[in-house]
Amino acid sequence: MEHLNVPPTNHVKVLDGQGWVGLIDHLGTESTIVNAARVSFGKLKNTMEANDVKLLEYLIANRHTSPMEHMVFTFSIHCPLFVRGQWHRHRTWSYNEISRRYTEIDMEFYTPAELRRQAESNRQASFSDPDFDGSELAKLIGEHNQASLALYEKLLAGGVCREQARGVLPQNMMVTFWGTVDLSNLLHFLELRDSEHAQWEIREYAVAIKKLIKPLIPNVAAYFAKQGQSW
Ligand SMILES: Cc1cc2nc3c(=O)[nH]c(=O)nc-3n(C[C@H](O)[C@H](O)[C@H](O)COP(=O)(O)OP(=O)(O)OC[C@H]3O[C@@H](n4cnc5c(N)ncnc54)[C@H](O)[C@@H]3O)c2cc1C
Repeated sequence: MEHLNVPPTNHVKVLDGQGWVGLIDHLGTESTIVNAARVSFGKLKNTMEANDVKLLEYLIANRHTSPMEHMVFTFSIHCPLFVRGQWHRHRTWSYNEISRRYTEIDMEFYTPAELRRQAESNRQASFSDPDFDGSELAKLIGEHNQASLALYEKLLAGGVCREQARGVLPQNMMVTFWGTVDLSNLLHFLELRDSEHAQWEIREYAVAIKKLIKPLIPNVAAYFAKQGQSW
């Protein structure tokens, strides 16, 4: 039996190799989308010809989203707890996650390779400052991660249950979950999270997802690229 903390074959590493997102499975193709749009005519095609691409572009441009709900993706995501918190706000995904009530093995913690400065203008934003050397502070984060783990293990060794002991684990703890979403809601997620308004860490995952799905939706990706979006 494979362990869930191991990335699937088709995956992209993020956060300086500390996190990853992998494509577990998918249902449907771009032909499924245009077939769904043409269901009312009772016609089915398995190839994408010029008029099909045109229809696909029309559907996206006019936010005719329901045909895109017939294409579905399942991802495996290995990310820090604080990224998971942002991700799970997307209610149109279905999620399952390793529970720390069941297991204490394979604990990992994210230590940022670079520390960013707080933006003055926007309390939610940060920026990279080439004059800011955060390496000593990053070391403190690594030490804090390890101290949290030591306390967690001490609590377990002292007889405390896992579900209470996990309260001392930091936001940098890595978690692994599966997320399943249809293409329409995935595009919405990518629009919000591959954005300069999104936190750098979750944006890394959104960019990685684009890499994973681009070969499966070449005409959709080309449409957004034509609109000036990075795909
Ligand atoms: C840059 C950024 C900053 C953010 N900052 C904060 C913050 O400070 N605090 C905070 O709490 N959140 C914050 N969020 C989270 C944000 O408010 C959304 O919860 C998150 O982006 C999910 O978006 P969504 O609801 O559109 O997605 P989904 O939950 O996937 O929903 C997709 C769409 O389905 C529809 N939908 C889903 N559920 C309902 C419903 N119950 N009723 C009606 N329509 C529904 C809506 O049209 C929705 O847009 C932030 C998000 C971003 C991208």
